[in-house]
Amino acid sequence: MSTRRKFIKQSLLTSTLLLPGTIRQGTVFFRNKRQAVTGRKPLILSTWNHGLAANEKAWETLNQTGSILDAVEEGVKITEADPASRSVGLYGFPDREGIVTLDASIMKGDGDCGSVCFVRQIKHPITLARKVMENTPHVMLAGEGARQFAIAQGMPLEEEVLHPESEEAYLEWLEEAEYRPIINIENHDTIGMVGVDADGNLAGSCTTSGLAYKMHGRVGDSPIIGAGLYVDSDVGAATATGMGETIIKVCGSFLVVELMRQGRSPQDACEEVVGRLIEKNKDGIEDMQAGFIAVNKDGEYGGYAVHPGFNFAVHDESGNRMQDSKSRFMD
Ligand code: ASP
Repeated sequence: MSTRRKFIKQSLLTSTLLLPGTIRQGTVFFRNKRQAVTGRKPLILSTWNHGLAANEKAWETLNQTGSILDAVEEGVKITEADPASRSVGLYGFPDREGIVTLDASIMKGDGDCGSVCFVRQIKHPITLARKVMENTPHVMLAGEGARQFAIAQGMPLEEEVLHPESEEAYLEWLEEAEYRPIINIENHDTIGMVGVDADGNLAGSCTTSGLAYKMHGRVGDSPIIGAGLYVDSDVGAATATGMGETIIKVCGSFLVVELMRQGRSPQDACEEVVGRLIEKNKDGIEDMQAGFIAVNKDGEYGGYAVHPGFNFAVHDESGNRMQDSKSRFMD
């Protein structure tokens, strides 16, 4: 909006507020008041402890470029490049064949989105997902096709060598080679990030190396629009972490956003979806973690998980901090 239009809108708003007794006055006043009390913009939210560093970068990027899309891309790139991460990026745990394969998605509030899955040798799958969104007529590219597209886009291929810690853990796992997911131990640690700028524009990103020792070719929720990530600027944004299969079965992130569309708060919507997920995944739910975080366009936010242990990072104008999520089950 031009400064002039902003000014006119602002003056009209102020003059309406000064006219007592009109319905419009009441509505506008209520909206302003509600926003001041319950939500803050801009706001960046991301999953788990690694979210702190990612939020920091996202905040800095938002300030520099003014783009919430740039912010959510640059933010999670920090985690993708972090040699200490065993659950995001190429330093992550491999699949059962000893190969690291990555999934990522990115989405804007206007519905534009891109994703890549089962991709190898790419340091920043989130950037590749953005290139799919911006430079192809498609939404999703998989495996070798995604890798070929990365080469065509001038992205370098990394050598396929496991991080020493990942290799050691993999060799140990090979001794029994049994796939038995255990909550919050087997690194259900995707980074999902959602953000809203000062004008209410939203974007989100989600990137992961997926479940450790997954079957070769397995794709989780993170690159699936509606499961691991969903954004709609009319409403809000949500992202997921945890056992991807349980999240896909309920179209988790889409459902969170749809519940917010019906008037539910981000917290309420996350709680309802975790309840639905438990209903649909009764078998073995004791050993399955899943969690959601969400923000609406007013900057209200929430998060909820199946089991204790989930946390998320929140960055607003008052700073960057971790928040423990509530969960359906107790310790
Ligand atoms: N959601 C991811 C997946 O299923 C894993 C995770 O969050 O750790 O691939």
